[in-house]
Amino acid sequence: MSSYKTLNALVDETAAGSIVLFRADLNVPLDESGIVRDATRLQRLLPSLEKLSQSGFRIGVLSHFGRPKGRRVAEMSLAPIASALGDLLGQDVAFAEDCIGDAAQNALTTLPEGGICVLENTRFHAGEEADDADFAAALAAPAQAYVNDAFSAAHRAHASTHGITKYVPTYCGLAMQAELDALNAALGNPKRPLIAIVGGAKISTKLDLLGNLSAKTDTLVIGGGMANTFLAAQGHNVGTSLCEDSMLDTARAIMAEAEKQDCTILLPRDAVVASQFAAGQSGEICAAQAVPDNKMILDAGPDAVSDICAAFDKAATLIWNGPLGAFEIEPFDAATNKAAQYAAALTRKGQLTSIAGGGDTVAALNHAGAGDDFSYVSTAGGAFLEWLEGKTLPGIAALAQE
Ligand code: AMP
Repeated sequence: MSSYKTLNALVDETAAGSIVLFRADLNVPLDESGIVRDATRLQRLLPSLEKLSQSGFRIGVLSHFGRPKGRRVAEMSLAPIASALGDLLGQDVAFAEDCIGDAAQNALTTLPEGGICVLENTRFHAGEEADDADFAAALAAPAQAYVNDAFSAAHRAHASTHGITKYVPTYCGLAMQAELDALNAALGNPKRPLIAIVGGAKISTKLDLLGNLSAKTDTLVIGGGMANTFLAAQGHNVGTSLCEDSMLDTARAIMAEAEKQDCTILLPRDAVVASQFAAGQSGEICAAQAVPDNKMILDAGPDAVSDICAAFDKAATLIWNGPLGAFEIEPFDAATNKAAQYAAALTRKGQLTSIAGGGDTVAALNHAGAGDDFSYVSTAGGAFLEWLEGKTLPGIAALAQE
């Protein structure tokens, strides 16, 4: 893995009182009255912010929020999030009406040492998403250092994640470092055997993911709706299940490639089927080869879950993306719940390193009551998936030291 300058290096190299720009992801869900509904992302920023504040820097927090597309949109102001951040930190957090120009400069230079100011949404300027060099230079202008702690925005080459690093010494925040360490433990240099679960609705949205994981893992569990397409590709009738008929050849190609790469693909031996995906349905268990014509697969069956748990027993590292079934409606959450709880128990015993993230995965693991016991759960969505797909993330590449 490339090396990054850490916050310890920043503290050693930068005089107290200096202005440090801190790229965070403050893009958290708000309710109608502007109250933060889920502060998980904010919580993860606190260690870095506390360290920078205790080191006596003047801290300007940069972030995007929503998709204002280069215009000022009042509902997408970061002002309410600045005050939520202040509550979590237990200190006043100031707010500046703009992230560049006099407003930013004045707000930052008048902060006390250790003071924190959230600068207004970077995406109010078109230069942000365009990674415009002049805008990046304007962002950097007041600062003596820049810290990126927003892994979830690192898949975008935007001015505040990428361009800015050309103008100011750049460091990796603590949350970013934790995410990179977890991802390295998962795919960079994992303890083997390495097992991955890819679940969720469709193959078509996860082709790159399946390709990269089948090249790198020892076992690849395919679950959720996408398993139906694989079963159909093997010639099984999947009744009225969600199935991508145009992807059958692709599914066969993925299975052939996995075999070449010595990766065992694990498909469900049995399934839970029902007449429709709706509340109040009682699931029926059947063999994967015997799905009735008028029923749809909505979850993996108990034998499939046993196979998955037995594979976890043999594994040292687990990567998990996507649910094993339509977990939002009972009883179709059973396979996801059981497998997640089993992985959590192995992790607690120190037998398994478990890393999960992307899409609905965090919700599915939390629903199973297992998320807290996983070694690492990424809240990063797109950036987590792109990393698992083997792509270079521009925000990470920009942190690497020559
Ligand atoms: P994704 O966003 O691709 O990770 O897909 C997650 C969605 O897949 C969830 O909303 C699940 O309800 C859905 N899903 C999982 N298994 C099935 C299935 N067997 N049939 C239909 N939808 C499913």
